[in-house]
Amino acid sequence: MKTGTESKSLLEKDEKYLWHAMKKYNPEGTLISAKADGVWITDVNGNKYMDGLAGLWCVNVGYGRDELADASAKQLKEMPYYPMTQSHIPGILLSEKLNEWLGEEYVIFYSNSGSEANETAFKIARQYYQQTGQPNRYKFISRYRSYHGNSFATLAAGGQNQRAYRYEPLSSGFVHVSPPDCYRSPFSSIDGECCIQAAEEIDKTITWEIPETVAGVIMEPIITGGGVLIPHDQYMKRVREICDQHGALLISDEVINGFGRTGKPFGFMNYGVKPDIVTMAKGLTSAYMPLAATAVKREIYEAFISNDDEYNHFRHVNTFGGSPAACAVAIKNLEIMEEENLVKNSEELGTWLNEELQDLRDHPNIGDIRARKGLLAGIELVKDKQTKEPIEENRAAKVVAGCKEKGVIIGKTSDTVAGYNNIITLSPPLSITKEELQFLVDILKENLRAAL
Ligand code: PMP
Repeated sequence: MKTGTESKSLLEKDEKYLWHAMKKYNPEGTLISAKADGVWITDVNGNKYMDGLAGLWCVNVGYGRDELADASAKQLKEMPYYPMTQSHIPGILLSEKLNEWLGEEYVIFYSNSGSEANETAFKIARQYYQQTGQPNRYKFISRYRSYHGNSFATLAAGGQNQRAYRYEPLSSGFVHVSPPDCYRSPFSSIDGECCIQAAEEIDKTITWEIPETVAGVIMEPIITGGGVLIPHDQYMKRVREICDQHGALLISDEVINGFGRTGKPFGFMNYGVKPDIVTMAKGLTSAYMPLAATAVKREIYEAFISNDDEYNHFRHVNTFGGSPAACAVAIKNLEIMEEENLVKNSEELGTWLNEELQDLRDHPNIGDIRARKGLLAGIELVKDKQTKEPIEENRAAKVVAGCKEKGVIIGKTSDTVAGYNNIITLSPPLSITKEELQFLVDILKENLRAAL
């Protein structure tokens, strides 16, 4: 590993002036990245690392894409900003393209981050019910272990323990249920049965909460940051039925699942359901620009415009949401995804990755491998396979550090997933080649065997 005086001085300044919350999760030292290309990041000292996390689940087309830089520069020169009460060409064209990707008609509301996209969804759902004669519907059901953002309402929706860390009281009206965790299901050890029971808990919870008070159910089709929980095929279908039965909206958080990560254009497409609201961010521009969107079914949108009462319109303004340059980058990003078949690549290489990881099941400390859908994997490390007691944090961290030492960045669940900081996570750029993925897998296996 090369070191240098420039990096020493930058690290000192980083330490002195910069507050980044993830610092704590880099006990082996902060990497100061200088440039990147494809799946490779180069630090200020010239050390090269493969990014096995796609910058944290989102740089789908990989780094160094001139097309995206050019799309941004062109738009910034032509029309960098717009009068907020009006519209612009990239915003309109992107909404049309998103409808193609969604495969159904949705109306698009832009913002800048996943948190804002979810916050917007909650406000739309509440106001929708206010305006359609069901004003008592204000609650949302979500799952433990999920993450939906950092604002007061999205923290309240989330099911990780950052919620409880000195920020309370959070927004009210959020009720949590168990996630579909087939490895540690509190319901049943029978494959499939555990997920159906987890869905039934949503039904029971809505009943207990009184259905006429519930506005919606929010979920990531596959829980990602909470440890890659891939539900059985029937789970989301049953959740859709339950929502219909009780008149609640189904909100699909596609901030990570969306744009190919799970091997389909959107995560919900793995399960044959149609959500009422779809939220998206990160992968929309492959993280080259901040942009997010909340897509709502037309019937919901109509409730905001079909009535002449001026109080019916959506009073939610976002200064930078859907900026022309971000939308131009998103359009180009989606074109690259289409031209290079990156959703298919995710599906095919994801299947291959799953097969490649299976021989790790013999390892005494590997309790579960979850990698059936797309370029996304969670490897759960345990002290003992019988008791399933999670392995010590420092041993899981050693695997991550060992891989970094060998030039591969991978992730692991953090202590925010209370009790489960033992899950190794992989989510490389969707543009990764088989040879590059083989390299990642080889380094990972070598370190899993050496560190455990
Ligand atoms: N939803 C999910 C599923 C996420 O993973 C995240 C961020 N990791 C968010 C929402 C919030 O997105 P942002 O950080 O852009 O606010």
